[in-house]
Amino acid sequence: MKIEKDYELKKHTTFQIGGKAKTVYFPETVEELEQTLKENPNAIILGNGSDVLISSDGIDGDVIITTEINDFEINGTKVYATCGVKAPVLSREVSENGLSGMEFMFCIPGTIGGMVYMNASAHSQSIADIFTSCKVYDVENQKVLTLNKDDMLFEYRKTVLSEKKYVVLSAEFELKPSTVEEVKALMQRNAEFRKQKQPSLALPNAGSIFKNPENDSAGRLLEKSGVKSKIVGGAKVWENHANFIVNIGYATSSDVLNLMYKMYNEVKVRYTIELQPEVKFIGIANEEEKEKWQTMTTNNN
Ligand SMILES: Cc1cc2nc3c(=O)[nH]c(=O)nc-3n(C[C@H](O)[C@H](O)[C@H](O)COP(=O)(O)OP(=O)(O)OC[C@H]3O[C@@H](n4cnc5c(N)ncnc54)[C@H](O)[C@@H]3O)c2cc1C
Repeated sequence: MKIEKDYELKKHTTFQIGGKAKTVYFPETVEELEQTLKENPNAIILGNGSDVLISSDGIDGDVIITTEINDFEINGTKVYATCGVKAPVLSREVSENGLSGMEFMFCIPGTIGGMVYMNASAHSQSIADIFTSCKVYDVENQKVLTLNKDDMLFEYRKTVLSEKKYVVLSAEFELKPSTVEEVKALMQRNAEFRKQKQPSLALPNAGSIFKNPENDSAGRLLEKSGVKSKIVGGAKVWENHANFIVNIGYATSSDVLNLMYKMYNEVKVRYTIELQPEVKFIGIANEEEKEKWQTMTTNNN
């Protein structure tokens, strides 16, 4: 297994932001991941780093990156994947088998572990719709558990994994038989839609910054609050959709955090709605940053 010391995490996040971690482990099998977790129970887990804001001052501890654990199997309508498989790769593979249910993953740059962790969704499809079970490592009790759909407590951008110290090792899904043409056509439509609504990774970003409040859209509220194109340091609200922050070249985590706090306050003042961050802030923070993050996440569920 590859182990890196003083590894710059910005290389491993879609925001291209993040300082160093003392030790970063890259297990290559589920068994290596279990063993690494046993030996480093406090290590932070990262998949593809597409839903995180990592402190530019780094992480005071160790990190495990799962992207080398990437096996999958397609058996009829059943799909098995280990945690590090990239969502677009699996989406493309199942499309070749004429299986429907993973078209939404085609343009989401996460891993299966990250997708299951937060019940990723888009274009009226979600992980919850196709999930049958997963194997997790229970870090506190040092054992492997199998969770079925009911155990997962799937909600919008939330599962039981947000509360328990469980690491997804692998997951199983049940897809619907369709045709290669239909599945690919839907993937293409999703990709076209995204071209208009989301920045490509050529403009480093971490997807939607805030979750949609119930029956509303964070993007709509932010746009009406006039935050589009606002800049703090190297972080800018994307001009085409106000729920994205793009790194225009030299952004630090503080720039992003301060810009998020401005966005949050603009919506709060105008609509008395407190938007909740979708991205997860990880790593070393000063007192002011801690306070801002805590304010924004107080009601986060
Ligand atoms: C351009 C772009 C578009 C996006 N579009 C969407 C979208 O349409 N819908 C959507 O839902 N999301 C979207 N996202 C957000 C993101 O891709 C998803 O949330 C994805 O599921 C994150 O996966 P990851 O592997 O990158 O997780 P990371 O960012 O590496 O980690 C995110 C969280 O998951 C935890 N985690 C990661 N792996 C595991 C594991 N094996 N076990 C337990 N916990 C784990 C981490 O500890 C962390 O808390 C988008 C992001 C980008 C950059």
